[in-house]
Amino acid sequence: MIRLGRGGRPLRIAYGRIFHEACAYSPSLTTREDFERMHRLEGAALARACSLRGSELEGYLPAAELSGFCAAARGAGDVEAIPLASSLAVPSGPLAADCFAWLLEDLIERLERAGAVDGVYLALHGSMQVEGLSEAPEAMILRRVREVVGPDTKIAVSYDLHANLSNGLIDPVDVLIGYRTNPHWDLAPTGFRAGNRLIRALRGQVRPTHAWRKLPLLLGGGQGIDFLPPMNEVFRWMKKLERDDPRVLSASLFMVHPFTSADDLGWAAHICTDGDEALAARLADELADRAWAKREVPIPTFLTPEAAIDEARQSNLRKLGPVTLVDCDDIVGAGAPGGNTHVTKALLEHARDLVSYVPVHDPEAVEALWSQPNGARVAFTLKGTPGYGMPPVEIAGATIAARTVGDSGRTLRLDVGTTHIAICERPPLPIHPKFWAALGLKARKADIIVQKNFFHYRIFYLSLSFHHVPVKTDGATSFERIKARTYDVPVYPTSDPKGWRESDPLMRRASTTAPDGARASA
Ligand SMILES: [Zn+2]
Repeated sequence: MIRLGRGGRPLRIAYGRIFHEACAYSPSLTTREDFERMHRLEGAALARACSLRGSELEGYLPAAELSGFCAAARGAGDVEAIPLASSLAVPSGPLAADCFAWLLEDLIERLERAGAVDGVYLALHGSMQVEGLSEAPEAMILRRVREVVGPDTKIAVSYDLHANLSNGLIDPVDVLIGYRTNPHWDLAPTGFRAGNRLIRALRGQVRPTHAWRKLPLLLGGGQGIDFLPPMNEVFRWMKKLERDDPRVLSASLFMVHPFTSADDLGWAAHICTDGDEALAARLADELADRAWAKREVPIPTFLTPEAAIDEARQSNLRKLGPVTLVDCDDIVGAGAPGGNTHVTKALLEHARDLVSYVPVHDPEAVEALWSQPNGARVAFTLKGTPGYGMPPVEIAGATIAARTVGDSGRTLRLDVGTTHIAICERPPLPIHPKFWAALGLKARKADIIVQKNFFHYRIFYLSLSFHHVPVKTDGATSFERIKARTYDVPVYPTSDPKGWRESDPLMRRASTTAPDGARASA
């Protein structure tokens, strides 16, 4: 077996991450501070975090893509893995232009300083967006990286399963791997697969050959969960293909994040084979056909907040634990700011007989009330995220019951009867019951808990909540906003294209983004 790289020396592979999922409907731009607060590691600190004893995404996941890549490099032997930098922020509005410039220039400088490399591995999202930039940011990152390393260095990339693929994200790349779980728990295996294929390609053991298809499809496949119908069948097929057919290096399905303002939004099927162009093309067609066939499986019906409260009130499962109201139009994990006030308003008006816990992003209210002591009676107007345009809620009498400082910044618990409102300085993601425990509340004691998350929270509420009600409230992650937009080609479900083949060549042209298009029509 050939172990060493060119000229009989170890392979040199640089690795790093720039990762963000943008929501064009959020009023909050994402800044350098958001990355520095959430996850930023450089050079030796990154290498330590990705080692066996390290913790790559401290507090979230011990091992993610870059740890997986480093494991592949260690396993292969004779590979020098060179840490660049790793940056990740919570999904939110597009990146501020200066924030992206900082991330990109820093990565490029580090890559230049690394000297000659045989390969580069980058963990990217694929649905980033930058203020004022009409190109997909990942395409720009890859173009710049290619300029530095030249045509002979191989580039491997992994993308989030919600990436919006385009030529700019594919053409500069030799190895391309996507997550294969939704919700995503396979970050480390994804990085491992990318590293493994990159190293084999560099040693001349495989010759990655791509084919991909783009589908005029924004929403479909039920909830899009990889292990539940209807998508489980497609994901099982892809895994089997990669496991059982040595000619197939990877099979990836990208079920696009539909909340950016890219004109060419759509699902994509990607296949990489070992030098077999015809096979890659045939399997990409088949993967696209399989995904397209699932488009009409509906997502669960979303209720109005009032109807959801009624359903919770009548639920037999409420005796066993709180009913979860999922605020689907204000999903913080998909980039919404978390300051939608509709559900809070409905709870105050229609659920005073129930014990309910609701988080709301409202930095101005936190600032105004923070100096008041616990136990104080206060009157204030809940406005939600600045610039979000949510209905103001007049609260004539609330008691400041508790406070904490955590992931959501300064957070105050305000009690209005049995309605417990957590107002947060930063977008709240209370997927774990400890969010409420920090405010002196037991999750088990609630009738209703409001989540700003589609699915992850269920892991922590498995033995606590047995009834989950999706609620529709008109926020940044509302499907109505997606349906109200116009796109380059007719897409499902805003239109009803007969198939994907006709629009595929049009959609695969280089991606452009109307930087403020979605915002203007939102
Ligand atoms: Zn995703």
